[in-house]
Amino acid sequence: MFDKILIANRGEIALRVLRACRELGIRTVAVHSTADTEAKYVKLADESVCIGPAPSSQSYLNVPAIISAAEVTDAEAIHPGYGFLSENADFGERVEQSGFVFIGPRPETIRLMGDKVSAKDAMKAAGVPCVPGSDGALPDDPKEIVKIARNIGYPVIIKAAGGGGGRGMRVVHTEAALIGAVQMTKGEAAAAFNNPAVYMEKDLQNPRHIEIQVLADKYKNAVYLGERDCSMQRRHQKVIEEAPAPGIPRRLIERIGERCVAACKKIGYRGAGTFEFLYENGEFYFIEMNTRVQVEHPVTELITGVDIVRTQIMVAAGEKLPFTQRQIQFKGHAIECRVNAEDPFKFTPSPGRITLWHQPGGPGVRVDSHVYNNYFVPPNYDSMIGKIIVYGDTREQAIARMQTALAETVVEGINTNIPLHRELMVDAKFMEGGTNIHYLEKWLSEHRR
Ligand code: ADP
Repeated sequence: MFDKILIANRGEIALRVLRACRELGIRTVAVHSTADTEAKYVKLADESVCIGPAPSSQSYLNVPAIISAAEVTDAEAIHPGYGFLSENADFGERVEQSGFVFIGPRPETIRLMGDKVSAKDAMKAAGVPCVPGSDGALPDDPKEIVKIARNIGYPVIIKAAGGGGGRGMRVVHTEAALIGAVQMTKGEAAAAFNNPAVYMEKDLQNPRHIEIQVLADKYKNAVYLGERDCSMQRRHQKVIEEAPAPGIPRRLIERIGERCVAACKKIGYRGAGTFEFLYENGEFYFIEMNTRVQVEHPVTELITGVDIVRTQIMVAAGEKLPFTQRQIQFKGHAIECRVNAEDPFKFTPSPGRITLWHQPGGPGVRVDSHVYNNYFVPPNYDSMIGKIIVYGDTREQAIARMQTALAETVVEGINTNIPLHRELMVDAKFMEGGTNIHYLEKWLSEHRR
């Protein structure tokens, strides 16, 4: 096992990784920007290194600074968390070339999956069903593009091959709007992702977002840990996640889970990963793969009892997966609410000092957050300040526990989206289960204030 791990991230995920390391008896190095000097996990880490000023381009994305921090502290491995450099194949390569272990898949796997066009090709070849769409990236010839859209049938969605974080997507309803939309998405993709390639998919009308968590080791052992339903989204960004997905027959989950495991073996996947699908009328359609730990991993941990981050570290250290598929048991129901520092209904960011932080507790309640009384939420980063996750024997019990947890939570000094979560947890349609990816946006437009 490793002796020392450098955590190349910040916020709640830095704390989550630190806790896993402590449990495993691994020493930790926290790297941080000048804006995060006071963060709890920086103090909790065995060592810390300031890697630059507040802007992430100069700190959390500063590859040479991170590599030198690993060198001076004599760390053996680097955990990239999620976001920042976690899906950057060049970073993974630099880490390995510098003699450290990258806690994630091989750089070539990250590269293959990081380009959504090559990812879809690889998945098709591995027998994973995909959203109907263009065969690879769109050609330049407008006539060809029109032909492809006619074949798929409107509405279509134009997506950037290098896109992520819900950006770089445009829905097109008519042929008249097609070419303009393709040009615009290409321009945006070139500027935002340094890659102008775009592709086309059928825009599914009422899908749910269902994803499959996988874990794999270096010896071609792989398992799936069931599914998560992440359909409650705003601007293609997840707000609430749960496991299992309400109302989807187990045999369908097993079938798609087995396909994902087969795909992992085929591409030589290692570590934790997520296959994301849209689910409509009983069919799964692959949209992309995330080659890292995800924000919503705790709901899966709660219903399987598997510690995903711990396992990620163990397989990176060369150990075999400590369980087989048959040993994975699913029990109960878990829900996660992402807590963001923002206006709950207008969504304007709300950084600043938290004057009072009182987090919930009790049976089945887990809070993953780096925040504490008098913590200052820097304006420089993502607005998520933590996650409230609950477990219950049934979905009804999980919802009741989340309602109680949200009622107990007190945050003063900044705005959070907790008032929104309180309303959603008593919403009749959410409580029924099975809402689609458009439900939250529709709900928000009907409850505008
Ligand atoms: P990102 O990498 O930016 O998260 P994804 O490809 O994972 O992009 O898509 C994010 C979300 O966008 C999905 O969860 C879904 O809500 C929506 N979406 C993506 N592709 C389609 C599609 N073909 N039809 C309908 N909605 C889609």
